[in-house]
Amino acid sequence: MVLENLSSSLKDVFKKISGSSYIDKETIKEVSKDIQRALLKADVNVKLVISLTNRLQERAATEKPPAGMSEQDFILKIIYEELLSILGEESRIELKPQTIMLVGLYGNGKTTTAGKLARFFIKKGLSVGLIAADVHRPGAYEQLEQISKQVNSLFYGEKNEKDPVKIIKNGLDRLGDAKVKIIDTSGRDSLDDELIDEIKRIKNEIKPDEVLYVVDATLGQQVGPQAKVLNDAVSISGVIITKMDGTGKGGGALSAVAEIKSPVYFIGTGEHMEDFEVFNPRKFLSRLLGMGDIDALMEAVKETNITEEEAEKSLDKLMSGKFNLKDMYDVWEKFSKPGLLKKIFNSMPLSRIPGGDKLNDSEIDRANEKLNIYRVILDSMTYSELENPDIINAKRIKRISIGSGKDEREVRALLKEYNAMKNNMKMIKSNRNFKKLLKSQMKSG
Ligand code: GDP
Repeated sequence: MVLENLSSSLKDVFKKISGSSYIDKETIKEVSKDIQRALLKADVNVKLVISLTNRLQERAATEKPPAGMSEQDFILKIIYEELLSILGEESRIELKPQTIMLVGLYGNGKTTTAGKLARFFIKKGLSVGLIAADVHRPGAYEQLEQISKQVNSLFYGEKNEKDPVKIIKNGLDRLGDAKVKIIDTSGRDSLDDELIDEIKRIKNEIKPDEVLYVVDATLGQQVGPQAKVLNDAVSISGVIITKMDGTGKGGGALSAVAEIKSPVYFIGTGEHMEDFEVFNPRKFLSRLLGMGDIDALMEAVKETNITEEEAEKSLDKLMSGKFNLKDMYDVWEKFSKPGLLKKIFNSMPLSRIPGGDKLNDSEIDRANEKLNIYRVILDSMTYSELENPDIINAKRIKRISIGSGKDEREVRALLKEYNAMKNNMKMIKSNRNFKKLLKSQMKSG
């Protein structure tokens, strides 16, 4: 995984905090040192690191955990929030017809990234045209043409033309059918006035929707000044950090570009076209810390609009193993908003899901579909059937089936599922973690 060393040392810090029986000033100091060591090793700027741990100490000393949240979880939450603040704002590139200009120095992966980006849009159903406007580097034309074949995009270039603006204008014309046009501009070995003038001229004449800065993660903190010069010249609208695979310096590059306040849209994680990830700071950090997508979970739970009391009651009932079809119906009602189940499962830290295994998308979709059928069936049951499912015999199944317009098989499947769920819930009754997690998220959300 990306930034593996940082990930494992931060996970150790988190383990230390979760495992400690109490949190005092000494623990916080010790944890601060561990975090400093981990971040410095990942090349994050010393000043940023110190200010982060200062804030941790200050917040730990002055803020109180919300009711119901343990001191340990509260400290983890603070660290999570502070780490997030050095990763910059979240923003996604829009999925719409647009013109994108890539800028950056040689060897940073600009041409490769043009292909990866093309592949990304094509997969989202938007056709792409690549325009070769690097008029300085020999072979740039052929390289991009080759890549365009690989990713099935359109391509435009003019081998002997020396004016990039001319090429781009012709290209935009000729690739009119492509929804997204991606322009690969010239680089240099280092930033010089000539390059800056060239990309400024392109920007002013072409007026692209996005100017994306492609930069190599292995440069670490050094990317800061470079990003600033380019941003002053052409206002960078987004950043793509390449070569995040196998570098300890990724933390430096990420935190340095965060300073220009342009969002990091993607990270490159290898030489192949598919080695490309949308960058979402929260998801990235949660994965780094091995804690699942906590924010998504909080959001999902908030969307249910259940009060804490209601949630607690439902959960208690579920866990007691004594619940009837009416209780099951209540829980499904609350959790059955479209997509909600998926969000909840996807956002759970793996280790905290009872049973441990993460469901995949199609399984969750199927579960949602099934829930919808079951709800219709439950609607056709009488109150006494819901209260006391044992009375549902063959005759009643037939009636319910006719009333709901669903197959008798489906009614039986629901009853079978209810019984299985009842047994399962009895079994995980001993596992309090699941309930504790849901409750604490509701309180803090
Ligand atoms: P350009 O000069 O900026 O256009 O850079 P290129 O696209 O030619 O890439 C330079 C080198 O970096 C090539 O060998 C690429 O395969 C490699 N490269 C690009 N992106 C990545 C990445 O995300 N990870 C790794 N490991 N290599 C990359």
